[in-house]
Amino acid sequence: MAKQPMLKFVTVSKEMPQKRAAIERTDDFGEIYGEYAREKAAEQAGRCSQCGVPYCQSHCPLHNNIPDWLKLTAEGRLQEAYEISQATNTFPEICGRICPQDRLCEGNCVIEQSGHGTVTIGAVEKYITDTAWEEGWVKPIRPAVERPESVGIIGAGPGGLAAADMLRRAGLQVTVYDRYDRSGGLMVYGIPGFKLEKDVVMRRNAQLAEGGVSFVLNCDVGRDITFDEIRGKHDFVVIATGVYKSRDLHAPGVGATGIVRAIDYLTASNRVGFGDTVPEFESGELNAEGKRVVVIGGGDTAMDCVRTAVRQGATSVKCLYRRDRANMPGSQREVANAEEEGVEFVWLSAPKGFAGDTVEGVMVQKMRLGAPDATGRQMPELIEGADYVEGADLVIKALGFEPEELPTLWGCEELAVTRWGTIKADFRTHQTSLPNVYAVGDIVRGASLVVWAIRDGREAAEAILAQVTAQGAGVAAE
Ligand SMILES: Cc1cc2nc3c(=O)[nH]c(=O)nc-3n(C[C@H](O)[C@H](O)[C@H](O)COP(=O)(O)OP(=O)(O)OC[C@H]3O[C@@H](n4cnc5c(N)ncnc54)[C@H](O)[C@@H]3O)c2cc1C
Ligand code: SF4
Repeated sequence: MAKQPMLKFVTVSKEMPQKRAAIERTDDFGEIYGEYAREKAAEQAGRCSQCGVPYCQSHCPLHNNIPDWLKLTAEGRLQEAYEISQATNTFPEICGRICPQDRLCEGNCVIEQSGHGTVTIGAVEKYITDTAWEEGWVKPIRPAVERPESVGIIGAGPGGLAAADMLRRAGLQVTVYDRYDRSGGLMVYGIPGFKLEKDVVMRRNAQLAEGGVSFVLNCDVGRDITFDEIRGKHDFVVIATGVYKSRDLHAPGVGATGIVRAIDYLTASNRVGFGDTVPEFESGELNAEGKRVVVIGGGDTAMDCVRTAVRQGATSVKCLYRRDRANMPGSQREVANAEEEGVEFVWLSAPKGFAGDTVEGVMVQKMRLGAPDATGRQMPELIEGADYVEGADLVIKALGFEPEELPTLWGCEELAVTRWGTIKADFRTHQTSLPNVYAVGDIVRGASLVVWAIRDGREAAEAILAQVTAQGAGVAAE
């Protein structure tokens, strides 16, 4: 049967038509279905040398058995490849799409290290899981037995959902609470649709709901229901709330109209992709069309903003970062993608202030890299007299995220947090300072990655299941 490509949320700038080819390029073979993709996947998988020292596997946070599923793919045994891949990863088609593979599995591929170009592990993982969905190999959630224990999960991002999947498969009663109207966390409202198609996430949401996971959406814990009430309703609680407090700039004029937060900008764009009515997008406040856009920051969120702005039809898109290319935190692959699409990077530049009540420009001060700080990273230093104004109609602040103050917001001072405000949890079991309360993902790690949240969610689920088993044994022994 001919397979249909996934929906993509892409519009292309009219003002930057020369970039159309770059935006529409297919950087993996998974978007072209049928025999061609099968051949390409097998060809890539066949490049794996089965080196016997699988650094790819040890550098995958889930320790996916990559060499084995590559070998099976090369042999055309896709269903078996899928079975092995899904055994360690709850959402392989999502990781295949959005893991920064250049920093994880692919960056450590022995073939890459020998200068011959990595096996495109992520693209193969995506391909075999997309094929599994198409062929009906993805197992529905059907617990063999129903168990009485109930788990309340706060936060429907990858951490919470990975825990929900595993716990429900084991027969526990699982309820996921989220303050958003859709489940998926940053996979739905943070990461843009051109990197992760939303129907891929919604398909997983549907699978969980059909498998008996209850979702309580539009429910802000701390406002619509108290944390204590959640604890009272469930035997176990998993906190998977992510980090959402945007770091801010302190510079004159920062309150001007037209200076917005990255999370608001990306959420609006993703909502529009879903077909939602978004007044701030329609008014132009959160829409880059026809504007000179300046994004401040050098992380992956900044990369998502610049690439979204290009797709919305910005007349120019610049990324201001106070260090240089080598020292930016974002993925180099994403920088290359953005450059290919026409984004200009203005390295060693920091905002000093903003011109206009409605923003007209960013006052930029030029920097150079000075002595290393305590972590060994060179500190940016100001170059006197080199300031200039960068014209802008829309400025997007992408300076990173911090945790909200959960113990205060939830009236639960016994919930121990670190000095950064992240929740303190055992690194293996993910148990917090409170009995039967676990925490996973960004709210423990700080802003991190989907694949780490999945790993945490799976490990917390394992710890809960171990506790359930131990309690069961205890009861039986009494
Ligand atoms: C713009 C952007 C792009 C990114 N791109 C990538 C990428 O390409 N690859 C990658 O691996 N990672 C990426 N990340 C990081 C990744 O999205 C996160 O690390 C990951 O989603 C964390 O998962 P989580 O489950 O801990 O939290 P989240 O995904 O943040 O989910 C937390 C959920 O908790 C809910 N919540 C919070 N507080 C409450 C409350 N009080 N009551 C009820 N619900 C609550 C939120 O609504 C949300 O749905 C990106 C992040 C951003 C911001
Ligand atoms: S989960 Fe991520 S790091 Fe692991 S193999 Fe897949 S793409 Fe690579």
